[in-house]
Amino acid sequence: MDKEVDLRRYRAFFVDLDGVLVRGSEPLPGAPEALRALQGRGRVIVFSNNSTRSRRAFAERLRSLGFPVSPEEIVNSAFVVAQHLRERSGPSRVYPIGEEGLREELEAAGHRVVAPEEAEYVVVGLDRRFRYEQLVEALRALLRGAVFVAANADPVFPTAEGLLPGAGALVGALTGMGYPPREIVGKPSPIAFRVAMRAAGVTDPRECLVIGDRRDTDIEGARRAGMDAVLVLTGVTRREDLEEEGGRSILVVGSLAALLLSSGGRRP
Ligand SMILES: [Mg+2]
Repeated sequence: MDKEVDLRRYRAFFVDLDGVLVRGSEPLPGAPEALRALQGRGRVIVFSNNSTRSRRAFAERLRSLGFPVSPEEIVNSAFVVAQHLRERSGPSRVYPIGEEGLREELEAAGHRVVAPEEAEYVVVGLDRRFRYEQLVEALRALLRGAVFVAANADPVFPTAEGLLPGAGALVGALTGMGYPPREIVGKPSPIAFRVAMRAAGVTDPRECLVIGDRRDTDIEGARRAGMDAVLVLTGVTRREDLEEEGGRSILVVGSLAALLLSSGGRRP
């Protein structure tokens, strides 16, 4: 299952955040150095389904942990959904359920955050202060014809305290009212990968390598987008989980740092 990855074949690297660069609020061992080395080999995008922070806030947080990244090198599902709505219908009126980062990215893309009565879209990401009242308002918007688009539908996410409910739980609450999302734009949707390619300035998916810790989002999304992918074992997937795979070939490395050490070519 473990094969050599020749990093020289790629111009862009889409690196997942949780379980690849950080675990909880700590950088993974060797990850800041490995990310820096990867930046010497091509365009690097930190590619995450987390919608709670803006690209700017993510970059600040990552820099404080020793990762040298700018906001332009971050693509998260808040940014993806904002870009996607713009492409779909230009600057729009949006009723969001989500945290500050989602609102910031929507406004940065030219959308207006509005009351439910005025909304063309209901956009949902993780909101750790979610209340029943927001469901009432979302329903009001949906009954008037607003379109429901989900930033992501991750069921749970890992933290230092264990798994917590993800944006998928909130998407499920709206779905339970009879309104499933028209689109879910985060990984594994090809929409997220398209936005990431644009951010990286590449047009050929074969020149892109996805590095992630989840098979259902990172690896599956790469497959759908026509990109190569490497699974790292520093996140949610364990080597034991892979044994059940039954022969499906995916590239596996222990960690981002190990990928940089083992890959073909000179070390920078
Ligand atoms: Mg992850």
